Amino acid sequence: MEFQSFMKNMVISELEDAIGEENVSINEADRLSYGVDYYWVSRVWADKGHKPPLADVIVRPGNAQEVSKVLKIANYYKIPVHTWGGGSGSQGGALPMAGGMLLDTKRMNRLIDIDEYSYTITAETGMIFQLLEWYANEKGFSIMHLPSCLTCGTIGGALAHRGVGITSTKYGKIDDQCVSMEVVLPNGDIVNTLPVPKHAGGPDLNQMFIGSEGTLGVITKATFRMVNLPEIRKFRAFLFKDFASGISACKEITQKVKPSILRLYDETETASIIKNVIGFDKKGTFMNMAVEGDARIAAIEEQIAIEICKKYDAMDLGSEYGEKWYENKITFFYPGYTLDNPQMFGTMDTAVTYGNLESCYRAMKEAIESTYPGVRFIAHCSHWYDWGAMIYDRFIMDEPPEDPNEAVSLYNRIWNTGVRTAMAHGGVVNHHHGVGLKLSRLMKEQYGPAMQVFEGLKKSLDPNGIMNPYKLGL
Ligand SMILES: Cc1cc2nc3c(=O)[nH]c(=O)nc-3n(C[C@H](O)[C@H](O)[C@H](O)COP(=O)(O)OP(=O)(O)OC[C@H]3O[C@@H](n4cnc5c(N)ncnc54)[C@H](O)[C@@H]3O)c2cc1C
Repeated sequence: MEFQSFMKNMVISELEDAIGEENVSINEADRLSYGVDYYWVSRVWADKGHKPPLADVIVRPGNAQEVSKVLKIANYYKIPVHTWGGGSGSQGGALPMAGGMLLDTKRMNRLIDIDEYSYTITAETGMIFQLLEWYANEKGFSIMHLPSCLTCGTIGGALAHRGVGITSTKYGKIDDQCVSMEVVLPNGDIVNTLPVPKHAGGPDLNQMFIGSEGTLGVITKATFRMVNLPEIRKFRAFLFKDFASGISACKEITQKVKPSILRLYDETETASIIKNVIGFDKKGTFMNMAVEGDARIAAIEEQIAIEICKKYDAMDLGSEYGEKWYENKITFFYPGYTLDNPQMFGTMDTAVTYGNLESCYRAMKEAIESTYPGVRFIAHCSHWYDWGAMIYDRFIMDEPPEDPNEAVSLYNRIWNTGVRTAMAHGGVVNHHHGVGLKLSRLMKEQYGPAMQVFEGLKKSLDPNGIMNPYKLGL
């Protein structure tokens, strides 16, 4: 929202009074730098010389009380507020599409408490997740939220997008790891969820705010479970003849043991990404697994997994390629290895039950590759549950249209095809990158009449609709 300069000056002086002059900026360079996140469209838009979506003012509150003051001002003047953590989100979730305020959380980065006896750790949510993990490691613990964005995403961003890390098959997703949190509601009230993750005190408030993507308030503090650092982490890689036999083996493994890392790459990713990054050059479906914890239990788990893979005719590759994968877990995102402009690409990660896994993957591949000439579809499954798995499927176009408007419109069509095909085959709109601006339009299709539950919540908590407009279908 562009506010007239007279009024703008009034609001800015109120903000400066609330959180300090040095924490309020209308500087053009600051505003520009908050107009691009990891969303492909925002990056291509800027690369082609277009002006990104600009906030009118950047605010950097230092604690929940200051967030509360900012939201009260925003609510009074009905100014949109877009919360920004690390800006590493891939869905355009933090972009200031409605102008107004951009609230950067990174000054709120204090460690509050490590309770070694209860195995919990509490911190402010503007902290980069890696730092929280290091605090836990110093005391011999881990939170085991180890995503590839560990060093660039904040605690708040992980919660707001329902993130996941590489060891999720054993330790769960962020929504399993969070014990409780503090949230500043759009009206400025500071509320806390219950201090334990399991209870029968009504619906779970944590799960209402986890995944809310800045549309229901600002998460300012969070407590997470910790586990002891594992005594051992053992890797084992296998090569399956095809994706289908790999899926069957992973399904059986997850029923019997709890690997921390379990990643199964389709034939195309095995021949491209796996070959390029870890130098494994054979045809088939590459699988990497880690078991960990108590060395005696890990050894038994490994043995059981080996027997299962043998049953499905897999070639046992020993520990070498699994270890190489782990050493290079971030290399996958380095320049030269990762997908990047000028390529057009998107990650459609969906979640499906075992009964739908292979059919959903094949249907998405067929729909995308046959509808859009020149677009490739590749996938791996990297987060497994007792009931199914996530398909981390990506589309890639090496030579997208030069004109950014044409490119964005093609990009949106490909996403529509992919996500709609996933939903028609038992998949869901997203597994862990969130909805943001990118998938906002598909939320009603996903939820149907159930969408009114979210809409009702939004209306009651944010009647002026100031929090992160155009995101999450709200
Ligand atoms: C190289 C790379 C690898 C990645 N790997 C993974 C991965 O392994 N797993 C994974 O889950 N994601 C991954 N991502 C995606 C992304 O990093 C995550 O979604 C991350 O959690 C976003 O955190 P952020 O702090 O950067 O959030 P931002 O991009 O700043 O914001 C994301 C959303 O969260 C909201 N938000 C942020 N902080 C708060 C808060 N305190 N209160 C309320 N709302 C808030 C914003 O408004 C926005 O809607 C990856 C991204 C990159 C660039």
